[in-house]
Amino acid sequence: MKSEIPARATLRRKAARVRDELVQAYGRPRWGSSLSAVDELVATILSQNTSDINSGRAFGLLLERYGSMEAVRDADLSELIATIRPAGLANQKGPRIQAVLRAITEARGKLDLKFLRKLPLAEARAWLTQFNGIGPKTASIVLLFSLGVPAFPVDTHVHRVTGRLGLRPETLSADDSHAWLEQLFVPEAYHDAHINLIRHGREICHARNPRCAICPLQRVCDDFQRRKLVDAGLPRRT
Ligand code: SF4
Repeated sequence: MKSEIPARATLRRKAARVRDELVQAYGRPRWGSSLSAVDELVATILSQNTSDINSGRAFGLLLERYGSMEAVRDADLSELIATIRPAGLANQKGPRIQAVLRAITEARGKLDLKFLRKLPLAEARAWLTQFNGIGPKTASIVLLFSLGVPAFPVDTHVHRVTGRLGLRPETLSADDSHAWLEQLFVPEAYHDAHINLIRHGREICHARNPRCAICPLQRVCDDFQRRKLVDAGLPRRT
C-alpha cells in the first residue's frame, strides 16, 4: 500500500522546515549566473547526461571558437559537433542547439529571451519546452538562474531527496514535480532549496546507501522514520 500524502498545508510547513534545516547545514547559496538566458540554455543542453566538468569544458570551447550564440547558430554543423565533443552525445546536442537557436531567432527576430520575464511562469515554461530537447528542468534553470523568474528546477537529486523526505507523492515524475514543489516552497526559497537539495543528494542522500546516520534531516524524513519503526518492530504507517 502506498503512503498517504498529507494535506497541502502540512506539506508546506514541512517544506519550510526542510529549507531551514538545509540552510543551517549548508548555508544560503549565493545568487549568480553571469550567463545570458540564451547562453544558459545552450550550457544546460550541453550539461544533459554528463558531468559539470565535461559540459563546462565544452561550453568554454564553444565560446572560444565562436564568440557568440549567433555564430554557433550559423556554424558548420560538423565543426560544431567536433567542438562540443567533451560534453558527450555531441551528434545529438550539436543539431539540437542549432535547431533551438534558429527557432528562437525565427520566433523573436533575435537571440534574446528577456521577454519571458513578463510572462506567467507556466507560459514562460511552455514557451521554452515547445522546443525539442528542452524539458521542464532545462526551462526552469534558464528561468530561475538567468532571468530571475521564480521556477523550481527538479533534477535527479532533487527528485530523489524530496521523494524520500515525503514532500511529493512517491509516483510523481520528475517533470511533474516542478509544479508540485513550486506549490510547496515559497518562491523566495526556490533558489536556495534547489541548490541545497542537490548538495544534500550529492553529499549525503546518495541514490544507493544514503548516509542517514549523519543526516541533519532525519527528523523530517519519512523514509528514515518508516525504517526506524520497522527496526523497532512497530507496524509501518502506510
Ligand atoms: S535521513 Fe537518509 S533518506 Fe532521509 S534525507 Fe537523510 S540521508 Fe536521505
